[in-house]
Amino acid sequence: AKAQGRNQYQFFTQQINDDVSRSLVMENALRKGIAEGELRLVYQPQFCMKNMRLRGVEALVRWQHPEQGLVPPDFFIGLAEETGLILELGAWVMYEACLQGQRWRDEGFPDIELAVNVSALQFREELVDQVRRVLEETGFPAENLVIEVTESTLMQGASQAIGILSRLKELGVWVSLDDFGTGYSSLAYLKRFPLDKLKIDKAFISDLPHDADDSAITRAIISLAQSLNLLTVAEGVETTEQLEYLQALGCDLAQGYLLDRPLWPGDMISRFKAEMHR
Ligand code: C2E
Ligand code: CA
Ligand code: CA
Ligand code: CA
Repeated sequence: AKAQGRNQYQFFTQQINDDVSRSLVMENALRKGIAEGELRLVYQPQFCMKNMRLRGVEALVRWQHPEQGLVPPDFFIGLAEETGLILELGAWVMYEACLQGQRWRDEGFPDIELAVNVSALQFREELVDQVRRVLEETGFPAENLVIEVTESTLMQGASQAIGILSRLKELGVWVSLDDFGTGYSSLAYLKRFPLDKLKIDKAFISDLPHDADDSAITRAIISLAQSLNLLTVAEGVETTEQLEYLQALGCDLAQGYLLDRPLWPGDMISRFKAEMHR
């Protein structure tokens, strides 16, 4: 199924043999796609492990290609980063997510957190002004917004990162460290970064609780997070066994196919209603 998935998105590459032309064709298609409004956001719910209530959502980008259908981000985020298109893409994602978040608020749905992924290239001084502007324009409250950054983003320019994080925190937004454990991070820095949450990468979750190494790593991450006063989010939770194991370890939040797939905004409405009638 995975190989089939790959073939499905080789649409740009057929009949183009030269690598340079191939990436130019893809770049132009993506540029056009962004300009013509072909990007979409889906929202994956996150639940509080104590009571399994809906706590928030993570916005995840998709490319609705006119011929090829829905293209997942792993097929274009890398290209967007290499070409700098990620700045435009990222700005759109931030605005669209907050606009949708505020729309839900206006419709009277429960107050939830909204997590938005920010890539390394976006993570610079300008980001702070961009976020401030988006919050002003959409009316979405800063304290409901969570910025997700990876540990490699922070480690690339650690001292500058501390400044940007601090300024984001001054706006009142939350910061979550994504893919924790997969990059190489310095635990000394972890303490200096003003963070709120650690997301345990799904690579560690998938073989829980049977894999002894992954269990040990997960336990260590949760206890580290607790001692640094950070909330923990487990991503990629697919089985009840994993959920119960993480619950027992004191993990705070869970996200994964067991609980919900990423949903279209329209499908989020039924989730909100279910939550309100609990
Ligand atoms: P991520 O930030 O680590 O997001 C989690 C990914 O895991 C999502 O894949 C989500 O659909 C998937 N997932 C959630 N639950 C499960 C599960 O139970 N099992 C499995 N196997 N997977 C699960 P998605 O949406 O394909 O996104 C892939 C990556 O693309 C994201 O990983 C993130 O790095 C990047 N991405 C997505 N949207 C954006 C965006 O708006 N901006 C940036 N810069 N990157 C984005
Ligand atoms: Ca993420
Ligand atoms: Ca992740
Ligand atoms: Ca990831």
